[in-house]
Amino acid sequence: MAPNNAYDYVITGGGTAGCVLAARLTEDPTVRVLLLEAGRGDRHPFIHVPAGFAKLTGSKYDWGYTSVPQKHCDDRIIPLAQGKVLGGGGSINAQVFTRGAREDYDEWATKYGCEGWSYAEIEKYFIGAECNERLAAPRHGTDGPIGVSDLVNPHPLTRAWVQAGQQYGLPYNSDFNGETQYGVGYYQTTTKNGRRCSAAVGYLGPARKRPNLTIRTYVTVTRIVLDDTRATGVEFLDTQGRTHHAGAKREVIVTSGAYGSPKLLQLSGIGNGDDLTAAGVAVRHELPGVGRNLHDHCDLDIIYELREYQSLDRLNQIRPGSAKAGLEYLAFRKGPLASTVVEGGAFSFGHAKEAIPDLQFHFLPAAGVEQGIAAMRPGYGATLNSYFVRPQSRGSVRVRSADPTAMPLVDPNFLATEFDVEASIEGVKQSRDIMSQPAMAKHIKAEHLYGGNPLRTKDDYVKFVRSHGRTSYHPVGTCAMGVGNDAVVGPDLKVHGLDGLRVADSSVMPRLISSNTQMPTIMIAEKAADMIAHG
Ligand SMILES: Cc1cc2nc3c(=O)[nH]c(=O)nc-3n(C[C@H](O)[C@H](O)[C@H](O)COP(=O)(O)OP(=O)(O)OC[C@H]3O[C@@H](n4cnc5c(N)ncnc54)[C@H](O)[C@@H]3O)c2cc1C
Repeated sequence: MAPNNAYDYVITGGGTAGCVLAARLTEDPTVRVLLLEAGRGDRHPFIHVPAGFAKLTGSKYDWGYTSVPQKHCDDRIIPLAQGKVLGGGGSINAQVFTRGAREDYDEWATKYGCEGWSYAEIEKYFIGAECNERLAAPRHGTDGPIGVSDLVNPHPLTRAWVQAGQQYGLPYNSDFNGETQYGVGYYQTTTKNGRRCSAAVGYLGPARKRPNLTIRTYVTVTRIVLDDTRATGVEFLDTQGRTHHAGAKREVIVTSGAYGSPKLLQLSGIGNGDDLTAAGVAVRHELPGVGRNLHDHCDLDIIYELREYQSLDRLNQIRPGSAKAGLEYLAFRKGPLASTVVEGGAFSFGHAKEAIPDLQFHFLPAAGVEQGIAAMRPGYGATLNSYFVRPQSRGSVRVRSADPTAMPLVDPNFLATEFDVEASIEGVKQSRDIMSQPAMAKHIKAEHLYGGNPLRTKDDYVKFVRSHGRTSYHPVGTCAMGVGNDAVVGPDLKVHGLDGLRVADSSVMPRLISSNTQMPTIMIAEKAADMIAHG
């Protein structure tokens, strides 16, 4: 490692945003960057084979966060998978390619004071990030680092489901990032040549050998070092428990994710005074919004038992079928292993009665793919999940103690408002209606609402959403951008009241966008790199 203070920028987390920033900043050969990642490298084949997603939640590449008992969800402790590996969430995610709605970003600009973040101002970062194999200008990019592909071979069940969505009344949509999200169709995926294209692959890959970039895995940043009000570097732990120091001549850039970034600020004494004092951490810089405003999409899954042995969940078993699939994948980059499993998608209008869709659906021709989701007999399951895209409920991330190795107290506070409950119920109702359309119904033997309770009355639905709501892996908002008292960073992503310190990952979203969050996080990191490079 280069001697102390040899780095211009120290980046605290090699996830989606961290990889983008490390790659972009080191395009200037005079700039020296240190990228620190708590997890391991991203070499394992399950990370790169699209269907490997089915093996990754709950694996050694996942932090294993859990929620505090969820007050509005039967006091359940909910697993909260987050990537602990180079590439972060982008190395373990379902590779669904979505940006959210134009209106999301316009609202950041108008309602939260995020000047410069309206859709018209940030669209260029989405386009510049993208290397789309089918779509092009004016809405899409064809030369960016992140490969975007159509499904190699949509599963017959997914085709049936997309038809069922049309029978239900949704228009067919061939581009969820185009004119409108509204409709049903096949998700494009962040894959290239039949392989996952995370930010670690697309951005960091070509930058890894640059002499001005140092990447360290298996190291956990424990503290941002402050000299009065200026961040001058970080402390980090290696796997032997030894503490190291790295100086940052220009900036420390925090990219530890929506749980890790507020935790790191709090461990450094930057945060809500009450939270820090309760955890036994000395307050260095009072900033009440740190760790507040946590929100996530609350996912509701319904599992279906199929009449025939036909779905992808058989791949979860080690059996001859897997070997055949492996050979097909290796030879042709086709077959079930080339599927990202989360194949079908839809956006529709539900309870919110707004001008843009407020419900999103994911169809999986498989069951039991993700941690905590019930499985069927292998080969006989399919899953449809839905969530309300603009939840009102707000929770928190609070450091548990001054011990940097302790897990934080994460409270997504799912379904804290009646509105969110009603909106979630509407998603479940629409899911059932879509699945009962002729194109899909002929494949279904039984609907499994695990727990076995029929859904008839309003009360049944309320019980169902409260007893089954779970993370959709889209936590944001814990270091929110804006100008109000609860904002943690300004529109330039600099931490309010401090110098030499920015946060530049999913945690800065003031409000969750109306879809999956990887590309929005890449956009944030791209804009951060641009702002840093151009003053
Ligand atoms: C299972 C799963 C499925 C998902 N599916 C999709 C999808 O299909 N489509 C989509 O668009 N989005 C999806 N997402 C969401 C998307 O991946 C995230 O929004 C995105 O990765 C967030 O990027 P980030 O940089 O903010 O955080 P992360 O990517 O989580 O990166 C944070 C990094 O910081 C590291 N870190 C944390 N603390 C420390 C520390 N103290 N020291 C050093 N390193 C640290 C972490 O190990 C991690 O690598 C999914 C996420 C998950 C987990």
